[in-house]
Amino acid sequence: MELTLPTSGQTVQPGKIICIGRNYAKHAAEMQSDVPQEPMIFLKPSTALVGHGGRVLIPRKSSDVHHEVELVVIIGRGGKDITAERALDHVDGYAVGLDMTARDIQAEAKKKGHPWTVAKGFDTFAPLGEPVPAREVNNPQGLDITLKVNGEVRQAGNTEDMIFPVAHLVAYCSQVFTLMPGDLIYTGTPEGVGPVKEGDVLEATISGLPPLRVRVKTES
Ligand code: MG
Repeated sequence: MELTLPTSGQTVQPGKIICIGRNYAKHAAEMQSDVPQEPMIFLKPSTALVGHGGRVLIPRKSSDVHHEVELVVIIGRGGKDITAERALDHVDGYAVGLDMTARDIQAEAKKKGHPWTVAKGFDTFAPLGEPVPAREVNNPQGLDITLKVNGEVRQAGNTEDMIFPVAHLVAYCSQVFTLMPGDLIYTGTPEGVGPVKEGDVLEATISGLPPLRVRVKTES
């Protein structure tokens, strides 16, 4: 999936999909996890991306796939060791995203101390809505964020409840990876995650951003 950066107009093949775990205290609590002392990072492959109107596939290897609605940061200007003060200057835009998670595979990985890559990395596990330019989002920490399944609200939060705000996340990630134009950061989910099934319609919204709608299908 190609990505057109909403501010610069540049078209890129997305490289890194960086995801932040446990960035909302109530979600950490519902997962019986501690609140992290510094951002907890994992990656998804770019083959996990699917756009608005697309299909999320429940893979044959899982029987418990969960929705996690998240604000997605789209990097415009790359960099290494970006300071938190300058971090938002590197953001080209924002979009609504879903961090689809095979919870059964993740639970098994947690038990064994294994990475989450399989649980998080299947094809179509990173739905991404249409982006808006960063200038249209005055404060990324004041946005209502919701997820409906078949019209019923399952997750409802506000990005003000992030443990590590967007500027901190961009700065922190740039200490690990050189950030590149088109890199994406999925910034974590509020509480209320839960399973999806064949035929479900997931509608994710964040105030000021175009909604993201995808339909769930079982892999044949
Ligand atoms: Mg997540």
